[in-house]
Amino acid sequence: MMLSKRLKLTAALCSLLTLIVGLSLIQAHHYQQQIYRQLNYSMKLQVSIDSLRSQLWLYQEYSDDRGLSELNLRQAELAKDLSEDIQWATQQKLIISNINRLNTNIRSLINTQHDFHSKQVNVASTLTAERLFKAKYSMIIEEMTEEMFRLHQFSIKKASQKQQTLLLMVGMVLFLLAIMVTAWSIMTLIRFKKGLASLRIGMEALAAGDLVSQINSFDTDELSALADDFNEMKQSLAQITIKKEKLKQEVDIQTRKLIEQQDKLIFLAEHDELTGIYNRRAFIKQIDAAIARDLRGEQQAALLFIDLNKFKEINDSLGHSIGDEVIMTIANRLVNNLRTTDIVGRLGGDEFIIWLDMITEPIDIKNKINQLLSSIKQPITIGEHTLQVGASIGISVLPDDGLNSRELISAADTAMYQAKADHRTEFCFYTDDHRVSALATS
Ligand code: GH3
Ligand code: MG
Repeated sequence: MMLSKRLKLTAALCSLLTLIVGLSLIQAHHYQQQIYRQLNYSMKLQVSIDSLRSQLWLYQEYSDDRGLSELNLRQAELAKDLSEDIQWATQQKLIISNINRLNTNIRSLINTQHDFHSKQVNVASTLTAERLFKAKYSMIIEEMTEEMFRLHQFSIKKASQKQQTLLLMVGMVLFLLAIMVTAWSIMTLIRFKKGLASLRIGMEALAAGDLVSQINSFDTDELSALADDFNEMKQSLAQITIKKEKLKQEVDIQTRKLIEQQDKLIFLAEHDELTGIYNRRAFIKQIDAAIARDLRGEQQAALLFIDLNKFKEINDSLGHSIGDEVIMTIANRLVNNLRTTDIVGRLGGDEFIIWLDMITEPIDIKNKINQLLSSIKQPITIGEHTLQVGASIGISVLPDDGLNSRELISAADTAMYQAKADHRTEFCFYTDDHRVSALATS
């Protein structure tokens, strides 16, 4: 049942309880008033009867007209009191009617006595009659008093019974209703607590990161509806989280790909596509930094310009791809014969360029060149072909032959041509003669 309905029912039961208590109080007040009226009336009757008795006694004593008329008056007053409409029970009505009858008897007796006095019979019979009248009056008054006593007794008994019945009935109804309200309230409270506990457990699980478990639907009240909404929300949240997780993974993958591509692009921008060593631009950038460092440290360095001999013939005779293989092999050999501080690059075609960093003795340059040339000249086997290539090397030295990359490359290039032209040597240093001729051509 819906909690609002439960609460409404509880409120209705409480209202009913209040109504019953109110009605009971009104009823009790009504009974009290009735009893009070009855008692009041009984007292009044009692006073009238007492008054009648006194007057009767006076009339018996003096038997005068004034006494008689007074007696008539008291008797009439009692008759009037008896005729008052009071809500009596049947038994009480009977008693009242008895008293009324007795009052009428008194009336008749008064009339008889009055007639008897007026007839003036002899003294002896008068005395006897008077004694008889007295005895009659006393008997009637005695009966009246007894009836009055019965009336009192009955009224008190009746009032007590009514109050007891009322108390019992109201007490029982209130007791039953109170038990119902209490039981109902306890059930509602248990239901409410159970619902709240389930919701709290569900929320704590969610706070702990559990997106899977669900709150069990326990009833069809508002808390259950709340639990269903909560479960739905949790499912949506789980789906959103999965989507978000997937999206994040996708973003991570794409980001990684982009970084890889970026790295590749950077690599391609700085490296020769065929050999993987520095291209011209990157090589110049690298040696610019090395030149600046060596100049600061007053260190010598050498730049080698290498051009393979008769490379075109390989291309022409064996094909461009074989030529490419040769270029790659030579590049590898150059890299393998250099220190990590040295720099190697490909300027294009069959031209390589090498920076020998921090050279202390010129003889070191020659030794290194011989080492490189011997490595270059090693036979190259590509498939079924075994080839051998030579190279011409031009050398410029920092700081003697130039103070920047452009000057040094130009000087080494010039020296390389010198070496290529002179068939007696494989390498040639840039000399003062070159410098003079270079000045003359510029
Ligand atoms: P020399 O002895 O005077 O140096 O002449 P050479 O035959 O070696 O020819 P040269 O150095 O004047 O020219 C180099 C040739 O290399 C020109 C071109 O056909 C070829 N070449 C340039 N780039 C590539 C390349 O990437 N791959 C291949 N296979 N050949 C290239
Ligand atoms: Mg060449």
